[in-house]
This record gives sequence, structure tokens and C-alpha cells, in this order.
Amino acid sequence: MARPREDLAARFWAKVDKRGPDECWPWTGGKRRKGYGAIGEGGRGGKMLVASRLAYELQNGPIPEGHQVLHSCDNPPCCNGAHLFTGTNLDNIGDMREKGRQRYVGGPRKLTEEQRQAIRLDTRPQDDIARDFGVDQSTISRIKREVSLQSLHGPLT
Ligand SMILES: [Zn+2]
Repeated sequence: MARPREDLAARFWAKVDKRGPDECWPWTGGKRRKGYGAIGEGGRGGKMLVASRLAYELQNGPIPEGHQVLHSCDNPPCCNGAHLFTGTNLDNIGDMREKGRQRYVGGPRKLTEEQRQAIRLDTRPQDDIARDFGVDQSTISRIKREVSLQSLHGPLT
């Protein structure tokens, strides 16, 4: 993520509905499942970035390795740096559990069961799907293989 950074920041802010300092600043650009904003990194073969991660980096600084960006306001499209904090996967699981949300499925990166289901049903080339979800093609391949295992051996629990 080196070069098109400035351009990326400009494109990012153009898609944020910036409001008062305490309010949520909703992302107005493209969204992924569960309402997370998404923005292309730019450049050839650029990845899709999660808007809230970019929001955090632009306003609060680098995200510690292995951490995710979480919302104190519980509003996934929000890009107000004051509402964003980082935590590990485990924090996220705890956070979700506290909020009584759906079970967080661990495994490849931060994909939820919902997203994995969508990946299994996606008929596009695996590279395209991988780019969309911000994971490696090998992850997509693994998720898609899980389904054939399931049909052979019954549900994996
Ligand atoms: Zn917010």
C-alpha cells in the first residue's frame, strides 16, 4: 500500500458524509455485506480495502498487526475516527458476543459464516472473489472445498 496513498485519501474522504465530531460519519460509497464500506486501493490489481480500516489509519495511525478495526458506535459504515478502535480477533468475538450478534466464525481472516456462504455460491473466478473479499485466492479455494467435504461427509460442526 505505498504509492496511490494521497489519491486514495482524497477518494476516501469524497465518499464520507462528514458530520459533527461526535456523530457517525457514514460511508456513502460502495458497501460489502453487513454494511462495511469498501474502497478500491487503486492501481493495477489493487485490493478492495475496508473503509473503516482506512478511516482508522488516516485519522488515528497504523493498525497494529493482527488487529481489526472495531466500532464503538456499532455502526459498520461509520468512518469517524473517534468511533473507531482496534482490537484483536478475540476482542471482536467478545464484542460480538456481548452485543448478542451472530456467532463469529473464525478461520480465514475475518470472514463471517455469511460471507463464506456467499463465497461458496459465487461462481466468478476465484481471483475475482478473493479481491472482493480482500483475502487470498487460496482462502477462497479452501472455503469452496469445505462445501464439497460437507456434501461428502455431512455437515462439519
Ligand atoms: Zn460512529
